[in-house]
Amino acid sequence: MKKNKLTLKDMSSASGQLVELNPEEFMKLPYPYDNSESQPPLKQLTDEVREKYECGLDGHLALKLPQPKSKEEEEQLVNKFLDGLRKLLSKENNWTFLMPLSLSLEYCAKCQTCSDACPIYVSSGKKEIYRPTFRAEALRRIVNKYIRKKGKFSLKMTGNDIELNWKLVARLAELAYRCTLCRRCAQTCPIGVDNGLITHELRKLFSQELGIAPEELHAKGSVQHLQKGSSTGMIQQAFADTLEFLEDDIEEKIGRRITMPIDKKGAEILLIHNAGEYLSWPENPMAFAIIFDAAGIDYTLSSEIVGYDAVNYGLWYDDVQLARVALKHAQIAKDLGVKKIVVGECGHAHKAISVIADRVFTGDLNIPRESCMPILEDIVVNEKIKLDPSKNDFPVTLHDPCNMVRLMGVVEPQRRILRKIAPQFREMEPHGVENYCCGGGSGFAIMPSLNFPDWRSSISGRMKFKQILDAFQDVIDPSIKKMVCAPCSNCKGGIRDLLAYYNAWEKTGIAYTGLVEFIVNAMVDVKEPYIEWPEF
Ligand code: SF4
Ligand code: SF4
Repeated sequence: MKKNKLTLKDMSSASGQLVELNPEEFMKLPYPYDNSESQPPLKQLTDEVREKYECGLDGHLALKLPQPKSKEEEEQLVNKFLDGLRKLLSKENNWTFLMPLSLSLEYCAKCQTCSDACPIYVSSGKKEIYRPTFRAEALRRIVNKYIRKKGKFSLKMTGNDIELNWKLVARLAELAYRCTLCRRCAQTCPIGVDNGLITHELRKLFSQELGIAPEELHAKGSVQHLQKGSSTGMIQQAFADTLEFLEDDIEEKIGRRITMPIDKKGAEILLIHNAGEYLSWPENPMAFAIIFDAAGIDYTLSSEIVGYDAVNYGLWYDDVQLARVALKHAQIAKDLGVKKIVVGECGHAHKAISVIADRVFTGDLNIPRESCMPILEDIVVNEKIKLDPSKNDFPVTLHDPCNMVRLMGVVEPQRRILRKIAPQFREMEPHGVENYCCGGGSGFAIMPSLNFPDWRSSISGRMKFKQILDAFQDVIDPSIKKMVCAPCSNCKGGIRDLLAYYNAWEKTGIAYTGLVEFIVNAMVDVKEPYIEWPEF
């Protein structure tokens, strides 16, 4: 589709692909990426993919939405969408989020203050399709015209000429996966309209009513989590074997064997890690074991199905799946008789179990839940273990995971730790609750199919990459090794892919790791460096 200004009407009427993405128009990056040759080209979808799936948005696919085979099938899907929308707006079916959804649909003043807060909109070179209000306004107009059935005069006055058809529904489904749910827009809105929540509710409608969700979040995500025990596919026996390997690795690294306690009844804490850590970053759960052992923390891990994986992908797309996983976590903690559940370095797991699950935990399942950050802060800042900050004497910056920081308010503990043990710590700008998403939020970090990773690294992670480069501009020479601390599994995945996409280790000497790795690296009793740098 070629014309200058995209309108909402185009969502239902335009044929073909709605927008073309041109890397030349994307937000500029700082040195050494301040020239167009530094921007890797975007991979194009093949003709075969274009024939098979709905590709009418921006040339990238998060969903593999099959094209309906007939007009009748299209009509059925549109009607299902409308039925789902009615449910979304009813107290009986959406008691969790009806109030903020209704208020957000009712009260946008169209001031566009939120647009400049959105990293995706800004990074794309201000593409209209990614404006936080674009998706929200499409839904608002459908609601006003087809659910609330506002009169012709009212629709004309508000410029509502939207036409509900399959093209619009298919594009909205894909567009629901062009927002990381970071809710920076909501934080900025002067009247509290939450466009991130509107996106979340759209995803929920598609998943719960039409069975449409990215396979990485649903079939290979929450479904696999509940059936096999972990969203990684790791079964119980594999988990037990993994812990043994990790204990061997700990012994090799620090010269002392540490047992990782498992299913210990009556422990003070049930510690749950994102299971992705065991497979991709085992040094993270190992570091927790070393620190907790040294500090004498009474904790246990669980070997129960679901209990060894803190992730709860339902948070991003489906309330029912969220509740199923959260209830399993609470039941496991109750059966172990622990005093509280503590979540390791995983931002969305923090929010899922601590905040959102509050609405489903009742009675004795309402066990206290905490972030690992204050415990780690207490250990480091109150010197419960011996630390030597000079062992971390290289430039370090801190990424703030949206779910943990902006959306939960866990802001200071992690920076107090770094200020204490990393002499060259410097903040990104902006930081804390103002910080930008890693680009992998809301599930994007675990969605590697087709050309979606290109979109993620070029657009949704672009602002984060700019922040990282800006934070290290004074030491940008690749011979100076520097580290991004990302205390969240998904953010680590997002940042790992960003750094790889831009070949950042070779070009700038920037690497990444979690937070506990810095603590163990600084431990006086650990003689060899714990943090490992990539090879040049
Ligand atoms: S969502 Fe808020 S900030 Fe954005 S246009 Fe509407 S009123 Fe303005
Ligand atoms: S939630 Fe974040 S990514 Fe989504 S529209 Fe708002 S600012 Fe943009």
